Amino acid sequence: MAGVVGVVNAGSSSLKFSLFDGDHCFLDGQVDGIGVRVGFRAKDAAGAVVAGPDLSWPAPKSPAEALMTLLPWLRERLEGRPLTGLGHRVVHGGATHERPERVTPALLEELGRLSPLAPLHQPHNLAPIRTALENAPGLPQVACFDTAFHHTMPPVVQAYAIPSRLAAKGIRRYGFHGLSYEYIASALPKAAPGIAEGRVVVAHLGNGASLCGLRAGRSIATTMGFSALDGLPMGTRCGELDPAVVLHLLNQEGMTISEVEDLLYRRSGMLGLSGISSDFRGLLASREPAARFAIEVFIHRVARGIGSLAAALGGLDGLVFTAGVGENAAPVRAMVCEACAWLGIELDPEANASHAGRITTAGSRIPAHVVPTNENLMIARHTRAALSA
Ligand code: ADP
Repeated sequence: MAGVVGVVNAGSSSLKFSLFDGDHCFLDGQVDGIGVRVGFRAKDAAGAVVAGPDLSWPAPKSPAEALMTLLPWLRERLEGRPLTGLGHRVVHGGATHERPERVTPALLEELGRLSPLAPLHQPHNLAPIRTALENAPGLPQVACFDTAFHHTMPPVVQAYAIPSRLAAKGIRRYGFHGLSYEYIASALPKAAPGIAEGRVVVAHLGNGASLCGLRAGRSIATTMGFSALDGLPMGTRCGELDPAVVLHLLNQEGMTISEVEDLLYRRSGMLGLSGISSDFRGLLASREPAARFAIEVFIHRVARGIGSLAAALGGLDGLVFTAGVGENAAPVRAMVCEACAWLGIELDPEANASHAGRITTAGSRIPAHVVPTNENLMIARHTRAALSA
């Protein structure tokens, strides 16, 4: 379908947007600091700033309001092309939505019922969709789910060992970062043809971090579970934690539920471990032993996760690094590869320093690659396909 597709990723205080002509992203930007001090920035395909930091309209009070204010501004940048539709990143598609879907009032209502499963993301993802549906009903919208790609995980992988009546209520492993893994799976035949049909662990290491085991490009297992809190330690999220710790914090430490939620989502992970920063650049630059220790814990958990996923895949043919840390932090990749030497991974330090392509030696039994992710492109493709269907 010809025309331009807009991609929207809404959070609690920000709205990121992109415009795609086919696979070509010609405008990319965000409104952030909503509710505090609103910032605005938009860049063209070459990365040149075309708007911002000042807004030429009144500060929006919510990301939904920001979208409605942005729409006329975005339409002015289409150079006569029609706006075919908007594709939205939606964190949770629940047990039934295995692929992106065109938004209807009924779908929105159903997705709203999933908000308790992802309280920090789902309501914020849905609010701008609802506002656009009400105020621009002629503009088609598509919801693209971060969970959908993991529907291929076998039932034994999805299950938690709790009474099965709870699984029927939706308490199971879903997995997230699915749009990123789906993009990587789509890019592998070109980026690393030798492993694309094999057993691959993809390490999406960013502010949020997880691992996914792919077999022939399909998700077999992943480190995130019921929520995006599980698995690897992240910028401020704790990752895998003995559930008894939560009981202890509530019963013995006297913390309230919202204090525990705040602790596990916003004050743990790399920030909690280091006491310095949630940001890898800051941690790698720091000489503080606590920063070093936080990185060591992260590497340990990534390496353990890779071993665990290799077991789930029944072997390993390749490792792929992606996202902010995976694409840019050569020292982190080097430490992960070193910790995975037992699997047959041998790093090529020079290739690793260049941040691209294969980063292991020619003799390495298992190759490791750096492949940049592109979740927005995945959303644009899905949106176009869903609207053409
Ligand atoms: P998000 O989950 O917010 O999309 P990103 O994938 O953008 O996160 O990753 C953000 C992380 O990547 C931050 O911890 C940041 O420090 C890290 N990062 C980005 N560039 C570099 C770099 N050159 N060296 C080390 N870490 C980097």
